[in-house]
Amino acid sequence: MSPPPQENDTERWQTVCAVEDLACGTGVCALLSGRQIAVFQVQGQVYALDNFDPGSRANVLSRGLTGDLQNERVVASPIYKHHFALSSGRCLEDPTFSVSAYATRIADGLVQVEAPREMRRTRLVVAGNGMAGMRTVEELLRLGVADRFQITVFGAEPRGNYNRILLSPVLSGEQQADDIMLHRPGWYTRRGITLRSGDPIVEIDRKRRIVRSRSGLIAPYDRLLIATGSDPIVLPLPGKDLPGVVTFRDLDDVGRMLERAGDDRRAVVIGGGLLGLEAAHGLALRGMHVTVVHLMDTLMERQLDAPAGALLKAAFEKRGIEFRMRAKTRGIVGSDKVTAVEFENGETVPADLVVMAVGVRPNMELAKRAYLACDRGILVDDTLQTYDPSIYAVGECVQHRRQTFGLVAPLWEQARICAQHIAEIGVSRFSGAINATQLKVSGIEVFSAGDFSENANRESVVLSDKRRGVYKRVVIEGNKVCGAVLFGDVREAAKLRELIADRTDIGAIRDQLLFDSPAAA
Ligand SMILES: Cc1cc2nc3c(=O)[nH]c(=O)nc-3n(C[C@H](O)[C@H](O)[C@H](O)COP(=O)(O)OP(=O)(O)OC[C@H]3O[C@@H](n4cnc5c(N)ncnc54)[C@H](O)[C@@H]3O)c2cc1C
Repeated sequence: MSPPPQENDTERWQTVCAVEDLACGTGVCALLSGRQIAVFQVQGQVYALDNFDPGSRANVLSRGLTGDLQNERVVASPIYKHHFALSSGRCLEDPTFSVSAYATRIADGLVQVEAPREMRRTRLVVAGNGMAGMRTVEELLRLGVADRFQITVFGAEPRGNYNRILLSPVLSGEQQADDIMLHRPGWYTRRGITLRSGDPIVEIDRKRRIVRSRSGLIAPYDRLLIATGSDPIVLPLPGKDLPGVVTFRDLDDVGRMLERAGDDRRAVVIGGGLLGLEAAHGLALRGMHVTVVHLMDTLMERQLDAPAGALLKAAFEKRGIEFRMRAKTRGIVGSDKVTAVEFENGETVPADLVVMAVGVRPNMELAKRAYLACDRGILVDDTLQTYDPSIYAVGECVQHRRQTFGLVAPLWEQARICAQHIAEIGVSRFSGAINATQLKVSGIEVFSAGDFSENANRESVVLSDKRRGVYKRVVIEGNKVCGAVLFGDVREAAKLRELIADRTDIGAIRDQLLFDSPAAA
C-alpha cells in the first residue's frame, strides 16, 4: 500500500545525490540551506552529520575515516582524531564536542536528508477557512514574515473565504454571493498558500504533529491554528430532518432557503434573535409570508431591554412579519417535506420553509478528539495558545477567560494578537471584549453594547420619544458607562462603545451621553 500523501515533503527531505555516488565507508559534503552536512554510506546504511568538527573548528568530517569503536559506528575527525557516532553525532572522547545528526532516507535511488528545523520554513496549518482563521493569516502576511511560513489552509466549505456577516443581504437579494467573497482561490495561490477547500480536517495527531483531512491527506505542522467557528444549534424536535428545515450559517444554507423561497410561500423562523430577525427580513423581501417564533417575550432579549424590544417588534410588524411570542415549538410537521410548525398549545402555523435560528455552539469536536483542554469552547490563554504550545485557536470555537464569542469585532483583535505570537514577535495580550451588536436591516436602527442589566449600584439615563420611534438607554455604574441600548437613532453608537471599552469617567460629559457628540478626549 502506498503511504498517504504528505504535505510539504520536498521542503522537509532534501536530495543530496544518487545512492551509487556514495562509495561505501566514505563521505561527501553537501550544502543544505547554507549548512555543510557530511553524508556517509556504510554497508548500505546512510548517515548524515554536521561537517563541522568543533575540536579543530574546521569543516572536515566528510573526509574522516569510518569504522567501529566502543560498539558504535563512527567517523574520526581527520585533524584531532575525535570520534563521532554516525547515528547520533555524539563525540566519544568529549560529549561537549558532539555535533548534530540528521535523519536520512533513500527514495527512488536518491539519498535524502531531513532538513533541520531552523533551515525550514515553519509549517502553519489552519483548520477553518472562515473569518477568524483567514484574518489571522492576513495579519501574519501584514507582519512581513510570510517567507518564514509554509501555510496550508483546510476548509470544510467548498469555496474560498467570504464575509459571513453579509449572508443576510445575500438572502434578502440586496447582494450577490459573489459580492461577499473576501479571498478567492487565486488569492491563496498568489501568496504561496495551499488551500484545501471542501476537505475538512478530521484528526489531529498531536504526538506526531500531523493532521489528517477527510480525503486522507496528511499535513505535518509546526504550528496549528484551529478556527473551526460554531455550529448552529438544531432543536431536537420531531421532524427536524425534514426537507425544508434549515439553519442559517453558511452560503449553502442561504442556497437551501432560496430554493424554497418565493411569492406567497410561507416561512417560519424559530428564534427572535439577531440571526432569526435578519433571516425573517430577508425572506420577507423575497416575497414570503414570515412568522417569527420566539420563546421569550422580548426580541433579541440578550441585547435589548423590553421597551427597545417592543419597538423592534412593531417595526418588523409594519413590514408584514408576524410574531408568536412566548411560544414553544413542539414539532415540525410533514411527511416528505415540511408543511407546518406545531406549538405546545396544539396550534399550528403552515410552513414551506422552517429556519432554525436558536443560537450557535463552539465547534470544538476536532480539538476534543485530540484531547485538547475544552470547556464551553477550546480553552486559550491571553496569547490565544491552547494547552498544547504548538496549537493556537481563534474565533467562535474558543473560550477565553470564561467568555465565548459570537461577533467579529473581538475576533479581529484575537487574530492580530495570535498572528504576532505565531510569528514569535508577540508582546500583546488578548484581554477579552465587550459585546456590541448592530442589526443589519435597512431602515431599522438598533445598537446594543455591554451589560445593561439593572442592580442596586446602577442607574439609567433614558430618552424615549415615541412619536419619532426613538429610544435610548445608557446604564451607568460608578460614573462609568457599562451598557447601552439605542433604537431608532444610533448616532452615538461608536462613542458609547468607546466609553464602555475604555471605562471612561463620564463625570464631565454626563449631560451629552445621549446626544451625538464626540467622545471624551
Ligand atoms: C447570517 C449571519 C450574520 C451575522 N452577522 C453578524 C454581524 O452583523 N456582526 C457580527 O459581528 N457578526 C455577525 N455574525 C457572526 C460572524 O459571522 C461570526 O462571528 C464569524 O464568522 C466567526 O468567525 P469564525 O472564523 O470563528 O467562524 P466561521 O466564520 O464560521 O469560520 C469557521 C470555518 O471553519 C470551517 N470548519 C469547521 N470545521 C472544520 C474542520 N474540521 N476543518 C476545516 N474547516 C472547518 C467551517 O466550515 C467554516 O467555514 C453573523 C453570522 C451569521 C451566520
